[in-house]
Amino acid sequence: MAERMLKFVSTPQRTPDKRPAEARAHDWDEIYRAFSAERAAEQASRCSQCGVPFCQVHCPLGNNIPDWLKLTAEGRLEEAYEVAAATNTFPEICGRVCPQDRLCEGHCVIEKGFASVTIGAVERYITDTAWEKGWVKPPKPSRELPYSVGIIGAGPAGLAAAERLRRKGYAVHVYDRYDRVGGLMIYGIPNFKLEKAVVLRRWRQFEDGGIVFHLGCTVGKDVSLAELRARHDAVLIATGVYKARDIGGPGAGLAGIVPALEYLTASNRKGLGDTAPGFDDGRLNAAGKRVVVIGGGDTAMDCVRTAIRQGAASVTCLYRRDRANMPGSVREVNHAEEEGVRFVWLASPEAFLGDGHVRAVRAVRMHLGLPDATGRQQVEPIPGSSFTLEADLVIKALGFDPEDLPTLFNEPSLAVTRWGTIKVDHRTMMTSLPGVFAAGDIVRGASLVVWAIRDGRDAAAEMHAWIAAHAGARPALAVAAE
Ligand code: FAD
Ligand code: SF4
Ligand code: SF4
Repeated sequence: MAERMLKFVSTPQRTPDKRPAEARAHDWDEIYRAFSAERAAEQASRCSQCGVPFCQVHCPLGNNIPDWLKLTAEGRLEEAYEVAAATNTFPEICGRVCPQDRLCEGHCVIEKGFASVTIGAVERYITDTAWEKGWVKPPKPSRELPYSVGIIGAGPAGLAAAERLRRKGYAVHVYDRYDRVGGLMIYGIPNFKLEKAVVLRRWRQFEDGGIVFHLGCTVGKDVSLAELRARHDAVLIATGVYKARDIGGPGAGLAGIVPALEYLTASNRKGLGDTAPGFDDGRLNAAGKRVVVIGGGDTAMDCVRTAIRQGAASVTCLYRRDRANMPGSVREVNHAEEEGVRFVWLASPEAFLGDGHVRAVRAVRMHLGLPDATGRQQVEPIPGSSFTLEADLVIKALGFDPEDLPTLFNEPSLAVTRWGTIKVDHRTMMTSLPGVFAAGDIVRGASLVVWAIRDGRDAAAEMHAWIAAHAGARPALAVAAE
């Protein structure tokens, strides 16, 4: 091992090449180029094969990172892919969109003094290679079980559960109100972070594996939760969180002030070749406009960078805290700045000005005050510090809350937390309704793709165990619960 590994002392960290900002600001392609085989092996060889790998501990999926790095360094890519795929339903997607600086790479122990191993880029390389070589196979079971599951939501949580349960032999039915599979991976995250073809090819594979998708089907409207419970042996709710947090104040109802997800969805639809009415009539198109985005999370970063690519005249991000206290990834802020976005830190809107249509945002400067009970510094307005930013399009990216599912599903006994997320028993992932499980953002609140995958896989294991234990009068399970 020593020969091929432990090269971090002699080999510097090299991330995949980033395309120049001037070029990428005019197209929708991903901003990083892929690793070459040589570069992937070289970078994987920097790993010191820690006895206690903190990278793995801080990966929500517990990925066996040292093993697939070693296999990559040795050129044994098919085996590396098998190891990566054993714990991750979408390694190529996580390699692209995980905030690695906060997860695996941020805890790589060679980080101090030497830059961390580029884990995410290697994971992406391994899996993209597996797709090219035909090693990625549809989730076909070796034998069918006489049971079926219903999954509400075709985002990463629902899909991760679907894949696991299909491999075990269940008839798997996924219901989604959208017309495509992928949830926020298809209509939320922009193409320059995650090319849509990467998500769409997974959809095709899942169908080839026998997973049945019922698209354009809103549970609570087209079919009830009660019907799904009668139809299937267990049900998973993986509906994500979509209710946009709003902003009030004078002028908040002016035209030209739009929610982030509506804006991003229209842009993604356009990229996929759909007609997108809000985009086509110009309302959700930033071309030629002075754009102000309010918020400091990753959704805000996606909005500012989308506006740049649409040809906005100017793009300003207004955030009430400072750079060090923003929730979004520092990496994304850096990309945005390189692409020409202007950040106004410690500023919050107090009014929207215009006559029917927004023409400016009046904002006030803020300062960071004392920490609250959670330890987070509170923000307070600085009296008399108001200023005005001209704007033709204002995008609100203030976060998301869950919809009222007990009402939508007409199931008042479906227990929710005080934030409206679904209450589950965290050992079994089961809701207050027997045989109904929940996973992903609808349980955690707005989170990450990698956590949704983790939850989906855990929920699948619990659903399998529950069906085995409650098969009752139905035929016995062909396999024992693992
Ligand atoms: P979702 O992906 O939201 O999927 C839920 C699915 O349920 C959707 O397809 C929806 O149509 C369907 N659904 C909802 N209600 C119903 C119903 N009643 N009937 C039928 N179907 C229904 N995470 C990262 O890790 N990295 C990133 O870079 C990143 N960028 C992001 C950018 C944006 C703009 C946003 C909004 C989020 C981003 N996230 C990112 C977060 C990540 O996308 C989510 O945490 C993740 O997708 C949650 O997965 P999920 O399966 O729980 O829900
Ligand atoms: Fe890192 Fe995400 Fe991959 Fe885990 S899944 S190893 S956190 S990139
Ligand atoms: Fe390798 Fe870093 Fe993980 Fe250690 S923490 S096993 S050096 S990737």
